[in-house]
Amino acid sequence: MYESKIKSERIMNISKIEHIGIAVKNLNDSIKYYEDVLGLKCYSIEEVKDQKVKTAFFLVGETKIELLESTESDGPIGKYIEKRGEGIHHLAFKVDDVSSALSEAKSKGVQLIDQNPRKGAEGLEIAFLHPKSTNGVLTEFCQESKR
Ligand code: ZN
Repeated sequence: MYESKIKSERIMNISKIEHIGIAVKNLNDSIKYYEDVLGLKCYSIEEVKDQKVKTAFFLVGETKIELLESTESDGPIGKYIEKRGEGIHHLAFKVDDVSSALSEAKSKGVQLIDQNPRKGAEGLEIAFLHPKSTNGVLTEFCQESKR
């Protein structure tokens, strides 16, 4: 009984840092740095129209690096770069279930950007927490889609 109660209070169950999102001005120039200097291999380039970004992915151990280039200046990454320049944009945690992780965060007083999960790159279900509630770190939850 007690155990199941504890479990229900920790439904978020973060298992790893899924990826780190980095805002860049130019995807191709940035890919060169990651490949030619760091020796990583870009394994996927994908446009996410919904977020007005083009993304490039690298795998580092179990964690990915997600480079984000804005496809339109009024997109979230375009605005971010205009205000703060290039740099680390968000931190993404892998959770079992984005919806329940969101409700848990909300119930604990965290301000949400997304009330419900939406589709991100790589077919993941994603949602963001507001940096006001997370010590200035734009925080993403993601989960592999249930097919
Ligand atoms: Zn992300």
